[in-house]
Amino acid sequence: MTDFLRDVEDALGNAKAPSSSELDDILSRAGELKGLPLSDAAKLLMVEEEDSLRAIYEKAAEVKSAVFGPRVVLFAPLYLSNYCSNDCLYCGFRKSNSTARRKALSPDEAVEQAKILSRTGFKRIILVAGEHPRYSGVDYLIKIAEEIYSRTDVRILHVNSAPVSVEDFRKLKSAGYGVYQCFQETYHEESYKVLHPTGRKSDFLYRLSVMDRGLQAGFGDVGIGPLLGLYDYHYDALAAIAHSKHLEAKFGACAHTISVPRLKSAEGAEIKKAPYPVSDEDFKKIVAVYRLSVPQAGVVVSTREPARLREECLLCGASQISAGSSTEPGGYDGREKNTSQFDLSDIRPLPEMARVISEMGLLPSLCTACYRSGRQGSSYLHTAQSGNLNELCTANALLSLKEYLLDASPEGREIMEASLNRFLEEFKGKLREDVKRKLETVEKGKRDVHY
Ligand code: SAM
Ligand code: SF4
Repeated sequence: MTDFLRDVEDALGNAKAPSSSELDDILSRAGELKGLPLSDAAKLLMVEEEDSLRAIYEKAAEVKSAVFGPRVVLFAPLYLSNYCSNDCLYCGFRKSNSTARRKALSPDEAVEQAKILSRTGFKRIILVAGEHPRYSGVDYLIKIAEEIYSRTDVRILHVNSAPVSVEDFRKLKSAGYGVYQCFQETYHEESYKVLHPTGRKSDFLYRLSVMDRGLQAGFGDVGIGPLLGLYDYHYDALAAIAHSKHLEAKFGACAHTISVPRLKSAEGAEIKKAPYPVSDEDFKKIVAVYRLSVPQAGVVVSTREPARLREECLLCGASQISAGSSTEPGGYDGREKNTSQFDLSDIRPLPEMARVISEMGLLPSLCTACYRSGRQGSSYLHTAQSGNLNELCTANALLSLKEYLLDASPEGREIMEASLNRFLEEFKGKLREDVKRKLETVEKGKRDVHY
């Protein structure tokens, strides 16, 4: 299980920033959309020089566009519970935070929160919970999924929750969960042990092997990512890439998403500052290197990051961002005041984010099509590798955007409508006619229209 971490140590051992001709060669190979070996990814992570960084960002934007087209997927987290039996030194939900106001949503409360998000326009939601046998166990997650699917028009639930057994993964899968996400925090075992002193999470190997269990149980789409700032990012970012390669070699599916959470200060946390700070420039470099090394993975930037940096990340490889987030259970109706997990930076709501994305010449997407059409795991990877995802993603983004504009009538609608029409016109021949016909059905009231 730890073999891929040995590969990381080997690749980092003598890695130096590449010479300019070496960089050209690496970037030209990255343009073939087959990913990069760890040795190349390690060299890219060493780059500090401005022109070289610019070349990396440009290539990452090109690769993102070739795989996914102009679309940027928008989603929101729904925090279910802040009860936790672990004691991660950096987290506001930790057991030792005696001042925390604890809350676990009842199924009815979770449905209410999901309805608020759905009215806003989100049909894809990621549920998040602290680790607690009663308030975030598999039975609780199954009940919540049943209630949200049967009582709202949310189309896909993803989940970020504590690692479980193969058997419990099967149950979560049957309950209809899409992506299972879990962050390794750090792949550096010694640091991991210090940062996670007690509780189930203190078992480094149980966490490291969670995605193997998920994929073994048939959970095709898994989301990974170290929490940046806990350890040297060169090691942790390279380990995330190696982790994805390990999963692809073993199960035929790379990580569906790689997130770039960066440590934020949290009320009640023991650690207030990152032991290994990651600068904004390094953050962008990590986003770009993920994109070049695992081109078919969604690279996800959360609202932990400031507005301008998030926009810059969309121009160097990121393909998904959250918007209008709350990290407090019950936080979307504005009534509850429970302890949130950490401080947020970008508090722009969905309409504003979608408008900004349109103004950047990109295409906001609220699409859930892959999960509706069974393009998951290795089937997703094959579609993406064959180069067919680009058009599918663009068409589905247009359909989901049309639905959003009609149903939510957001501020800035005209700008988004213009962007929709512009991308529609870029389609050629038969496909353009087909997408137009599908858009008309949305206008007439049909919903969840997708390819
Ligand atoms: N409790 C589960 C776990 O730890 O895997 C799942 C949910 S936890 C709320 C989601 C993620 O939040 C953690 O995996 C961690 O990476 C991130 N997180 C925790 N404290 C943070 C902080 N202070 N700043 C930024 N992200 C943080
Ligand atoms: Fe609990 Fe997760 Fe926070 Fe750790 S990161 S204290 S496991 S909620």
